[in-house]
Amino acid sequence: MECIFCNIKDRKSEAEIIFEDEHVLAFLDIQPVNYGHTLVIPKKHFDNFLTVPKDELDKLIHATQFIAGVVKRSLNADGFNVISNNGNPAGQSVYHFHFHIIPRFDKDFTLKPVVRNYSQGALQEYGEQIRSFISKYKDIYNG
Ligand code: AMP
Ligand code: ZN
Repeated sequence: MECIFCNIKDRKSEAEIIFEDEHVLAFLDIQPVNYGHTLVIPKKHFDNFLTVPKDELDKLIHATQFIAGVVKRSLNADGFNVISNNGNPAGQSVYHFHFHIIPRFDKDFTLKPVVRNYSQGALQEYGEQIRSFISKYKDIYNG
């Protein structure tokens, strides 16, 4: 399937590239939340966070940390968000995994979603539901 980020990596589509190494590419988002909003992608195609192999993710996170620091300093930002959207309800629109780095400034608007409160006992129930899957899947974590 045609992938816009693979095309950018292959130089079949244009992008404002700011960093590249053997494993990773970073370029400016064409519809930025703030100017300088940067996307960091693995050069290999993986659909989402869950399908990126550990060694690729290590390299991607290392590069994202470096680029976040550079974006912050170069734009005199007061902070930044590192975000990844996974799946349609989370707002993912390009199914080639990427981290967003969004420079943020004092007196900026908030990006925090609307929050809710737990009813009595629900916090513990959610904790238990998720913990039961931790034990079910911990072999994946341990490799
Ligand atoms: P997401 O919605 O989390 O999947 O993020 C995809 C991002 O890619 C969006 O913020 C888009 O603005 C951005 N985007 C889509 N096409 C391009 C492109 N050709 N060059 C740069 N950014 C793009
Ligand atoms: Zn791709």
